[in-house]
Amino acid sequence: MAITLEQVNTAPRDQALQLLDGLYEHSPWVAEKALDARPFRSLAHLKHAMAQVLRQAGRDAQVKLIKAHPELAGKAMVSKTLTAESTHEQGKAGLADCTPEEFATLQQLNTDYNAKFGFPFILAVRGPRGTGLSRQQIIDTFARRLQNHPDFELQENLRNIHRVVELRLNDKFAATPSLGNDVWDWHEAMSQYSDPGYLEKGQLTVTYLTDAHRACAAYISATMRDCGFDEVNIDAVGNVVGVYRAGTVRPEPVEGPASTSSARTVQAKTLLTGSHYDTVRNGGKYDGRLGIFAPMACVRELHRQGKRLPFNIEVVGFAEEEGQRYKATFLGSGALTGDFKPEWLEQKDADGITMREAMLKAGLKPEEIAKIKRNAADYVGFVEVHIEQGPVLNELDLPLGIVTSINGNVRYLCEITGMASHAGTTPMNRRRDAAAAAAELLLYVERRAAQDGDSVGTVGMLQVPNGSINVVPGRCLFSLDLRAPVDAQRDALVADVLAELNTICERRGVHYTTELTERAAAAPSAPAWQQRWERAVDSLGVPLHAMPSGAGHDAMKLHKVMPQAMLFVRGQNSGISHNPLESSTSDDIQLAIQAFTHLLTHLAP
Ligand SMILES: [Zn+2]
Repeated sequence: MAITLEQVNTAPRDQALQLLDGLYEHSPWVAEKALDARPFRSLAHLKHAMAQVLRQAGRDAQVKLIKAHPELAGKAMVSKTLTAESTHEQGKAGLADCTPEEFATLQQLNTDYNAKFGFPFILAVRGPRGTGLSRQQIIDTFARRLQNHPDFELQENLRNIHRVVELRLNDKFAATPSLGNDVWDWHEAMSQYSDPGYLEKGQLTVTYLTDAHRACAAYISATMRDCGFDEVNIDAVGNVVGVYRAGTVRPEPVEGPASTSSARTVQAKTLLTGSHYDTVRNGGKYDGRLGIFAPMACVRELHRQGKRLPFNIEVVGFAEEEGQRYKATFLGSGALTGDFKPEWLEQKDADGITMREAMLKAGLKPEEIAKIKRNAADYVGFVEVHIEQGPVLNELDLPLGIVTSINGNVRYLCEITGMASHAGTTPMNRRRDAAAAAAELLLYVERRAAQDGDSVGTVGMLQVPNGSINVVPGRCLFSLDLRAPVDAQRDALVADVLAELNTICERRGVHYTTELTERAAAAPSAPAWQQRWERAVDSLGVPLHAMPSGAGHDAMKLHKVMPQAMLFVRGQNSGISHNPLESSTSDDIQLAIQAFTHLLTHLAP
């Protein structure tokens, strides 16, 4: 029978420990020490308390715990000497049904892993949804993690142990993260749409207004309707907009005789939320989409309960944020703030298709983009849920983080023009090598950004158009992406990088052009809204962690016209993002939905 938190909190210590039996493999001391933190406010609180015990126990105790675990598909599984929990988990992952080849591969990986690290490989084989990884996923993860640094693997093993425990706890408490599971499934379902060339390789790429992009818009629209939104439409720029209307708004008190029924009708204000559904090339499934689906799940619950709030909830799936197909970015949120520049319509993609042509083909009306600009006075504010896209929460064993500010960034597309010449006959001292000049700048960017401590600088695109193996590069195209938490710091970085570009090009006798494609000011969270997120996270028994956002988000755009604040959700695999390994558990997604629900139901605009 399922146990309750109340039982764990009130039982005598030895009985409480008995209730938490079998969580950490052969190591009841973790749960026992965590009992010092009673009363637990939630399962999330209990999970975090146990993770803290292990963190504070030190390396020797951590290695000992790791070594208490069986090898995956190892001898213990074959000889049936695993703990009941491990037998269940490894069996569920299908490890008992390995083909001889798979079994041999796993044995080899076990041997190599043990030889390199001195402890067994641990993986939460039930995976981020709790329904089990495939044998191929297990083998791929094993092979990938074999390349990691030993210190990292020690921590990654511990994180996997905590995940195993989380699932074991859910079983014990019969706690199913059903909202998180549904939202996790929506991500999975929408990830079937991917641009040609990537779909075939099993990669996720959804760029602005491709067929896959339109299929995503249709998927979001249909799901919004299923959730019970009152209005769902696709706007002129391709945003999917769902509105869940306010209930009766208490009329303003009216002066005069009580008998007159002249209460003025009050126009309800609107809470705006959402994120983007486009992706980078070969990106992850959760970036952006989590911020659309999480509030959709909240609305679905409100609708199921027949509940209306005193404000409208407007959830927007922004059509474009990543700047992959055209040079402009934030097309979706920018259109809402009046930042969509009409000249962008003439920009061409790599195939020479203008943005206007792409819009018309998708059935959008570019001439109406100006009309979708929102009147900020109609809104109480903007909130956005987003996967963290970094390692911080993962390292701290925390499911949620509260954003304090979004870093400012500046982006350039640059071109250096030198002289293409014969690679065999042009002496080294007479070359005007465009690529070598770019390479010199790239190394400078790396050095200069590191100087600040918290600035970052990246040359993410670097290309020698029509280059040949035997030709000195005559042209080199590259991008610059420079970010810092404070605008002044970012501007100083930009100034230094551009000055260095000038110096390098003068010295090398090459020319350059730069095109500014993005400049976004740092966007500090509105204190009142940040506090609402803090109260929401605290209500779940999850410790608060405030942090800046290194990545840009749609909230930066809305920041210009209304108060905003963001909530981060932990990513698995060290929080890796813009990468297919990006991952989130349905348990963490569930907590994000609960936090959002708390924010909604405690908001009285
Ligand atoms: Zn994003």
